[in-house]
Amino acid sequence: MSYEKEVIEYYGAEHQLIVAIEELSELTKELTKALRGNPSRDRIIEETGDVQVVIPQIMEIFGFTLNDTFPVMLAKQERTRGIMHAEGETDDQTD
Ligand SMILES: [Mg+2]
Repeated sequence: MSYEKEVIEYYGAEHQLIVAIEELSELTKELTKALRGNPSRDRIIEETGDVQVVIPQIMEIFGFTLNDTFPVMLAKQERTRGIMHAEGETDDQTD
């Protein structure tokens, strides 16, 4: 049994979604603190690791995999790249 299935079976999906929300919030807090001038690389690494633990649990609970999220990720990266390149071309024309 995967770690995700085991932890969800033991604690329950609702509990693990609460944990996921808490971990996302903790990373949010560390990033906010960094932007307020008090960055802690160690805390950001720790909270990013915590988020990486809960993301596969979210996927397990809602029944999707990287095969579902990867195309979304690639499409959003491509869209942002397109915007950046279009803006870069616009900037080039004004220089
Ligand atoms: Mg945490």
